[in-house]
Amino acid sequence: MPSRPLISTAICSLTRSSRAIHWRLVVSQRPTNARFERTYRTTACRRNNLSEDDRRMLQEAREEDEADVVIVGGGPAGLAAAIRLKQLEQEKGKEVRVVLLEKASDMGNHTLSGAVIEPRALNELLPDWLEDPPAPLTPVKSDKMRFLTEKYSIPLPAPPQMHNAGNYIVSLSEVVKWLAAKAEEVGVEVYPGFAVNELLYDHSGAVAGIATNDMGISKEGAPKDNFQRGMEFRAKVTLLAEGCHGSLTKGVIKKYDLRREKDVQTYGIGLKEVWEVPEEDWREGEVVHTMGWPLTSQVYGGGFMYHFGERLVSVGLVVGLDYANPWISPFREFQRMKHHPIYSSVLKNGKCLSYGARALNEGGLQSIPQLIFPGGALIGCSAGFVNVPKIKGTHTAMKSGMLAAESAYNAITSDTTNDSAIALYDYEDSIKQSWVYRELNEVRNVRPSFHNPLGVYGGVLYSGIDTLLLKGRVPWTFHHKTSDAQATQPADKFKPIDYPKPDGKLSFDLLTSVARTGTMHDEDEPVHLQVKDWDAHTKASYPKFKGVENRFCPAGVYEYVPDETKTEGVRFQINAQNCIHCKTCDIKVPAQDINWVCPEGGDGPKYMLSMSTASLLSWFIMLTLSSLNHSCWLVRYMLLRM
Ligand SMILES: Cc1cc2nc3c(=O)[nH]c(=O)nc-3n(C[C@H](O)[C@H](O)[C@H](O)COP(=O)(O)OP(=O)(O)OC[C@H]3O[C@@H](n4cnc5c(N)ncnc54)[C@H](O)[C@@H]3O)c2cc1C
Ligand code: SF4
Repeated sequence: MPSRPLISTAICSLTRSSRAIHWRLVVSQRPTNARFERTYRTTACRRNNLSEDDRRMLQEAREEDEADVVIVGGGPAGLAAAIRLKQLEQEKGKEVRVVLLEKASDMGNHTLSGAVIEPRALNELLPDWLEDPPAPLTPVKSDKMRFLTEKYSIPLPAPPQMHNAGNYIVSLSEVVKWLAAKAEEVGVEVYPGFAVNELLYDHSGAVAGIATNDMGISKEGAPKDNFQRGMEFRAKVTLLAEGCHGSLTKGVIKKYDLRREKDVQTYGIGLKEVWEVPEEDWREGEVVHTMGWPLTSQVYGGGFMYHFGERLVSVGLVVGLDYANPWISPFREFQRMKHHPIYSSVLKNGKCLSYGARALNEGGLQSIPQLIFPGGALIGCSAGFVNVPKIKGTHTAMKSGMLAAESAYNAITSDTTNDSAIALYDYEDSIKQSWVYRELNEVRNVRPSFHNPLGVYGGVLYSGIDTLLLKGRVPWTFHHKTSDAQATQPADKFKPIDYPKPDGKLSFDLLTSVARTGTMHDEDEPVHLQVKDWDAHTKASYPKFKGVENRFCPAGVYEYVPDETKTEGVRFQINAQNCIHCKTCDIKVPAQDINWVCPEGGDGPKYMLSMSTASLLSWFIMLTLSSLNHSCWLVRYMLLRM
């Protein structure tokens, strides 16, 4: 059986090699947002034609360190789990070393702003949180629900689950930064800028920790001048808190068959912008949800608009990824939606500050896989605890993290003799006893009720009755039988959609929007959107789906470029540097041949409440420089720090 030594942090630090100690010092002392100090990465890449020296460097032994619990992902779930573990240490006296790794360059940078949160989990985790709250924090004052036609809006009764009395409108990205500071205060080691693509296994096949990515590998897979090997963190418990459709989570679900006897997971893509609007158009604390236009009756989804902070408005659209028509572009539907009077009357004299997109789980209770595997567990949206009718997953993500933490703490501190991998059985049980389960059970039939011949109308009718009267107390459970990739139908079954041109005031083109995400990836690094054979992909996808990738990606990463030398007349192209890590391609691509893996730590979007003009300008300059000359990396780094 594996040896799982219980060495205290102090002893660990003393026995570590000088390089590992140096690594920890670098990490602990680096300023936030610093890209120079990112040092480790491993990205799967093409490694042909490498010299012997290159191969040797790539296979060098990695430095090792040990923690009791390693958490991959610093969103609400990961941070709540980390804080709870350290609270238990204080309450019960047995020390646990907790390490949390986050791929964003700074905490909160990969979290979309502008959300309504239910404070239930926060109240339980940090009962005094309102004495030192995250900012902005706007209590919800009014709630509206509307069904939209192209010109009109019809009031709908909001089901009780969608009432927001007692909830707060926040910048989730700021909430994550604030939670990370709370975690550090209680002794969690929080390391932003470190992506994890690899799980470590012991000889019994149990997860035994993680390895951070190597750093400094070229597009061809060769080590560059700044190459540094990744680092291994051995852990008694590994918690995967990667959010929706995590890349490690996907592997673990497959390896341990965690979806056995569960439904497939289904998803939506959420697109959001934060606007600043004039005082007269701003209604502090107002929450508006809409259904209907611009989506047709065959597409599940809805829009939202939250007034918060200082004259800020978060506006967004969620589109269920089970749509059949491959001509649909969720990005362009969103741009079109803002022209409806209910949105345009608020935004018309405002200024768009930021844009972002992210997939979210829509499967509900029946799509949550088995939560535990040998050596660890899935928490938050890695597992899929989103309450779909509410469009809320922060409170359930946090609570699941807290319950997993309690189970992990008990297992680690009571397990002194048995050498086998830890299994967090009581985490599964405590979820079933918790309000998370009761809440998700009540709404379990709402989303799948939209799979019916009447589409949205049938779904609204059933879910209205279910949420107002039945409240899930029925003996049946509807199921999701088809994955979102399988739901996509051939393009020749539908008419191409003629989207209106953006007007540059309410609606924008893709490049302008992507600039507002601040996303950045090194040009000379392996493409993190892995497609084994680009020509085979084109052959399988283009004739049937006519460039669906180009339309479902909210960041213009995929293109089919005219090329007469190719049988299909087009060449597939991946502009990986634009990727905003939403994971939609991995979910929706019909042939399921795009594998999203983490790029170098620190890459990707920089979500914040607003992108300053200087940041926008530097993004455009960097993009131009990188296309002119890949070796301008120093200038690009300096611009990033502006
Ligand atoms: C458009 C949209 C609107 C939403 N609105 C609301 C709302 O109003 N209210 C609400 O409660 N919820 C809302 N949600 C849902 C909410 O955002 C999620 O439920 C919540 O963020 C889940 O928290 P999490 O910690 O599980 O995952 P996430 O918040 O996704 O955090 C996961 C973190 O892990 C990091 N990560 C992932 N993989 C790796 C890796 N391999 N290595 C290192 N780091 C990694 C990511 O960068 C990320 O920071 C919304 C979601 C979307 C997409
Ligand atoms: S490439 Fe994939 S993950 Fe990246 S932005 Fe496009 S759809 Fe999202």
